[in-house]
Amino acid sequence: MTLKTWRMLRNELSLLLEAFYPKPEASSLSRNAIEEIVCKRGIDFLKLLDDAPNNRQLEKLNIIRSELLNKKPLQYITGWANFYDLRLKVTNDVLIPRQETEELVRIVLDVIRNRTKLQIADIGTGSGAIIISIAVNSIAGNHTFLATDISEKALEVAANNADKYKQCICLFQHDLLSDIKFPFKQKVDILISNPPYVLQSEKSSMLPNVLDYEPELALFVPDCEPLIYYKQLAKHACYLLNDEGIVFVEINERFGEEVKAVFEGMGFQASIRKDVNNKDRFVIAKKA
Ligand code: GLN
Repeated sequence: MTLKTWRMLRNELSLLLEAFYPKPEASSLSRNAIEEIVCKRGIDFLKLLDDAPNNRQLEKLNIIRSELLNKKPLQYITGWANFYDLRLKVTNDVLIPRQETEELVRIVLDVIRNRTKLQIADIGTGSGAIIISIAVNSIAGNHTFLATDISEKALEVAANNADKYKQCICLFQHDLLSDIKFPFKQKVDILISNPPYVLQSEKSSMLPNVLDYEPELALFVPDCEPLIYYKQLAKHACYLLNDEGIVFVEINERFGEEVKAVFEGMGFQASIRKDVNNKDRFVIAKKA
């Protein structure tokens, strides 16, 4: 039997994955799967494409392949997701952090660049991706970081990730929809959130890797109440924010004007920002 090289194995896996992922995604998934197994990325990965795996690596590949063919996201198989130069632990209690959300982090980091001692809060933190990447990338600012989530299990994941990056993030269990007040002792300067915003009716256009594995609680809103989280955020922001405070939220591309109007209705000056795909993706609201 001739040994197969990583290149052959990657092509085989990619073809199999094309049955349910678009070609570019199948190709990058198969690459990322092998990168995980060989613990090498970039040029180091390319250099070993003509090598053959050893038995232990082949065994790992077989396990990952069968899970990928069950449409399980690679990040839940390996337990790790890359986000803004961080490598974060993820379980299926938290969303896999998305590229759009990296843009949200960049927008916030730009705004706070020359400021110090801010109170920065992330509502619905999940894995902690937003608040930890902001903390790691604004070390000199001497800020205070707060984060909430409704899910205890998500908070455990966020705590693990904060420890991994040696960041002090005060985590609170809090239900944005039904808890009356936020558990923070002080007012905040920067409020960030990527709340659930996908409509139930949008499920039909989503891939099974998302629908079958990612937490519903973190993704969906009822069709009759698409703005429910933004309305709550705007209401709480009125008393939570300091005078110069700013809210940054990620949004469903279909509701830019509506989310903006929610914040304006509560007395904020709001604007919409687009993502790299030119879709309305963020609303920034300042106290007027
Ligand atoms: N952007 C995510 C997705 O499309 C949704 C994130 C969210 O609901 N906040 O799956």
